[in-house]
Amino acid sequence: MGKLEIRDLIVPGVTDAAYIREVAETKRALELWTMEPGFQEKFMESPEDALAAHGLHIDVPSVRILVDHEESEKYRGVPPEELLPTAGRYRGFIYEKLRQREHMVHCDCVPAHAGFRAWRTRQVSRCWAELGRKNGAMVHAPLMFELDLGCSVGCPFCGIAAGKLQKVCRYDEENRALWRGILSYMKDILGPAAGSGTCYYATEPLDNPDYEKFVRDYFEILGMVPQITTAASMRNPARTKALLEELHRMRPAIHRFSVLSLDILHQIHGYFRPEELLYVELLPQFIEAPSCHFSKAGRAQEMQDDHVVDDDANTISCISGFVVNMAERAVRLLTPCPVSEAHPTGEYLVARESFSDLEDFKRVIEQLMGQFMAVEMPKDQPLRLRPGIEYEMTGEGITFSRKKRYRLKFGGSDDISPEVYQKVLTAMQKGGSPRGIAALLMDENIAPAYTFFILKKFETAGLFLEGYE
Ligand code: SF4
Repeated sequence: MGKLEIRDLIVPGVTDAAYIREVAETKRALELWTMEPGFQEKFMESPEDALAAHGLHIDVPSVRILVDHEESEKYRGVPPEELLPTAGRYRGFIYEKLRQREHMVHCDCVPAHAGFRAWRTRQVSRCWAELGRKNGAMVHAPLMFELDLGCSVGCPFCGIAAGKLQKVCRYDEENRALWRGILSYMKDILGPAAGSGTCYYATEPLDNPDYEKFVRDYFEILGMVPQITTAASMRNPARTKALLEELHRMRPAIHRFSVLSLDILHQIHGYFRPEELLYVELLPQFIEAPSCHFSKAGRAQEMQDDHVVDDDANTISCISGFVVNMAERAVRLLTPCPVSEAHPTGEYLVARESFSDLEDFKRVIEQLMGQFMAVEMPKDQPLRLRPGIEYEMTGEGITFSRKKRYRLKFGGSDDISPEVYQKVLTAMQKGGSPRGIAALLMDENIAPAYTFFILKKFETAGLFLEGYE
């Protein structure tokens, strides 16, 4: 038997209807497993009947591999090409999504501007120390937009504690010109990464009656489709469906529906055929769903519910960059951090500025980037090691670590001796700026070029507090 052929699906021009249906029906079976109370028991008792009751006629052993822990363990590490066909094709689709996310983190979201790029890299590195593995799921988008002020949905678990809907940015002549000007300007600064974000953040995209018009400009100017996550998918299902179809014609991408109740799940499954939701992930956000959980961030901190998971790395934010609010004409510079009293939503707000028009917007962005996103490490500012990070001098150099989070080794991979790394760290702990540390180490015959090289490596690894922290 030849190897199974796995096809990419998140690309233009996929036409194999049978392949799409098989993956889409498998996806729906998993949605039932994770969200429909009682489905798991029915499936274990009589899988064919349980699937057929939802119009699904897929290979049962394949579904078992995907849902049953024991069964999936037997196939751990087996590539999709060697699994049963249905399981293999579905898993191939999941791997394709993961590859795309990796590509976003390391390519699509990387700003062309050197200073912005360096700042974002430091935030990604810091988050490995502060958030551990959770950071692997964060894309650290450099730019997002909000087309409204606040959100009409008011979810009690809202991790970013979005306020009530207060204002909507309509697509009138003035806002259209401003919007297009902002998109073009940000494209000049960020390059293709300007199109890697979304047109929602602490907002519900479908609150804006002109969302589609804004998105058409976004696609025309940035060449990308902003991913959509909506908690209002069934408010006007015909609109949702038309929007998904239009976005898919522009460029295939993965979108998401937040499913807020069992009733809404039934409505979604009743309205959309499995194939129509192939590119839409359903997020179980109601407590009857077997897989429901909320991050203990924002309003969810107030919830007394077992579904609120407190894993010490709570945040749902995934932006390290600017959130531009078009309704109130304001810019926030944000990056994720663990939830704390000072940061209840798991966002570090570096700065917030208002703007009045396009010229003012450009002034604000230039000012913020000049202030926080220097291309080179400032040579005369004192360096402060980030608290909570431990270090150990080893035969190879230095190992930095944070309990249960990460270990990071320096030395041993370039031609600088471990002792030089250690001397730089020791000198650094006495306080002082890069220039001061370099001067100190010259007395020990360490050339400033080595000192700056090592300090730059530490800085890129997010080991120093930023000037604003
Ligand atoms: S989770 Fe989303 S939809 Fe719900 S209140 Fe927050 S921003 Fe609005």
